Amino acid sequence: MVSSTATPTRAVTASRASTTRTRLFAIPEMRWAATATALFALGLLAKLTGGPSWLWWSLLLACYLAGGWEPGLAGLKALRDKTLDVDLLMVAAALGAAAIGQVVDGALLIVIFATSGALEALATTRTEDSVRGLLTLAPDTATRLTDDGEQTVAAVDLAIGEVILIRPGDRIAADGRVVDGASEVDQATITGEPLPVDKATGDEVFAGTLNGTGALRVRVERRAEDSVVARIAALVEEAGRTKARTQLFIEKIEQRYSIGMVVATLAVFIVPLIFGAPLRDSLLRAMTFMIVASPCAVVLATMPPLLAAIATAGRHGVLVKSAVVMEQLGATTRVAFDKTGTLTRGIPDLVEIHPLPGSAVSEDQILCLAAAVEHPSEHPLAAATVRAARQRGLDLPVVHDFAAQPGRGVSGRVDDHHLRIGSPTVLTGDLSSVADAARVRHGSNARPTRSIAAAEIVATVHSRGRTAVVVLREDEPVAVLGFTDQVRPEAAGAVAALAESTGSTPVLLTGDNPATADRLARQLGIGEVRAGLLPHDKVTAVRELAAGGHRVTMVGDGINDAPALAAAQVGIAMGGAGSDLTVRTADAIVVRDDLTTIPAVIALSRRARRAVLANLAIAASFLGVLVVWDLVGHLPLPLGVLGHEGSTVLVGLNGLRLLRSSAWRRAHDQAAGHGAS
Ligand code: ADP
Ligand code: MG
Repeated sequence: MVSSTATPTRAVTASRASTTRTRLFAIPEMRWAATATALFALGLLAKLTGGPSWLWWSLLLACYLAGGWEPGLAGLKALRDKTLDVDLLMVAAALGAAAIGQVVDGALLIVIFATSGALEALATTRTEDSVRGLLTLAPDTATRLTDDGEQTVAAVDLAIGEVILIRPGDRIAADGRVVDGASEVDQATITGEPLPVDKATGDEVFAGTLNGTGALRVRVERRAEDSVVARIAALVEEAGRTKARTQLFIEKIEQRYSIGMVVATLAVFIVPLIFGAPLRDSLLRAMTFMIVASPCAVVLATMPPLLAAIATAGRHGVLVKSAVVMEQLGATTRVAFDKTGTLTRGIPDLVEIHPLPGSAVSEDQILCLAAAVEHPSEHPLAAATVRAARQRGLDLPVVHDFAAQPGRGVSGRVDDHHLRIGSPTVLTGDLSSVADAARVRHGSNARPTRSIAAAEIVATVHSRGRTAVVVLREDEPVAVLGFTDQVRPEAAGAVAALAESTGSTPVLLTGDNPATADRLARQLGIGEVRAGLLPHDKVTAVRELAAGGHRVTMVGDGINDAPALAAAQVGIAMGGAGSDLTVRTADAIVVRDDLTTIPAVIALSRRARRAVLANLAIAASFLGVLVVWDLVGHLPLPLGVLGHEGSTVLVGLNGLRLLRSSAWRRAHDQAAGHGAS
């Protein structure tokens, strides 16, 4: 029997995110394949050293059993559902070989067949491992704080609203909000952000992230199964159950092919008999035909490279939700980017507050009102406003009737005033044209009304490459706020790499103003800009690109991008901890906050596609050569088995190549290299 101590248990490092790997022999298919191999080796040894025939016969038959019971049983079950399984044909061929005395050849067939099955299982398991690695990040137990003191409970039993204690160095057990204490938290496991983030009362923390040196009390806001990390894990797990287009196509053909193959096998057997060939020769040739004509390698050509690529991308911070997506990514001919939060850091700073003349409010009053309305919003501009108010030590009043309009702004009632905050063009019409018209009408030194003043300030803020937002009270503009955002340092490199690999310049689709958008596009080398877009305009833009014959990959981060992500051939969401809706709509999620992973995953997809093509070519040529050889010449059964199963294993191994980190590194270096130039 196989000793499972052959592979030492790998210690799982507690502090750093690491994927736990299933031991090789924890995979049942692996164990059966190894058992079959060992029995085959013993049987062959017994036979070659002249051992008693009962000994090697029973060893080889045991080998049949070990390697063939599982595919045989599965094949019989499939037959009950009226589908003909290739696996069943292989087992039948092996048994047939034994029946005509070629017991060693049949056993060899079983061994190699079981091995290729095990390789396939290995590819799937490795993918699942990278998911489980994510899940095990969240600790199993938590310290619950009650009136009676501390209690250690299972993390899954935590209810929303309960308060847990996070000690220094602990992994955080649940998604929630800090109610007391301050610390820095390493969120690399979810966001890939290498620097710890400061957390204080009111801040959100995520299960599976690592607490630094402070102690935190956290109120639980999501149950364990709804946590960000659990959701990501579930998404990737689903990916393994999906099938690529190529695979679906192959499986559709496989059915008809298998039936055709059985008919052809019968013909190969019967026709020579009619012409007087000896029974044993005909049977042998038919058997060989059935083995070499089996499309095992063709069936194994597609999924392992794609699944391996999914696993590799997952380990490097890009979660691809399905094999279909992994297949499509490499076909991208145009990339569309959202601006705020995608090409920029998405952590803007509020740097200008302009109360409008005649509005009779101070900067602090404006900030107080604006921050109160923005408080419930998830938008980066909202977060910046609230942060600015906190920094000035302002107490925020409560907002009632809060409503958000993605891509436009927010509204609510504070101190019995109706307030609206958002995009200047959307809220007040085209302010600048109002201002221009007024100037023409009144001459350049006419006294500006409040709207015109607002328009002029907005234009000044835009001319500095900043984002302007207007604050309206009872639908009258009272202030203009100006925000800066930092461009992600790797953005230009990623844009250059994508332009090179897709053959066309990326497009910038943004809800922000044209002046700011143009400036950023020039800085990053983006050739096409569409600004001032509402969420549905982004969808239209994506559709237009697609209608122009492009396969569009859209990259975005916010709720406002969700429709466009869905409309694109492939939608990629930035930030795993990002908006729920975006993460759900997207086909892939960049959890490591790094844009260069996008050209890298596209390059990886191309490699996977090339591997699929190479596999199909290998499989088809082996199949063709062996079939012709068997029909026109004399192909010895062992050689047929070796050729057929050899090509299957070759194809399987070729897929697994993409599991290696070097596959990613090469793809990533290629992308980074373009950026550097
Ligand atoms: P982008 O497409 O660049 O990511 P969005 O579509 O999120 O930008 O926002 C477009 C514009 O809508 C912003 O530039 C801003 O003027 C306005 N806006 C949207 N949400 C808010 C908000 N919560 N507070 C203030 N302004 C907002
Ligand atoms: Mg955005």
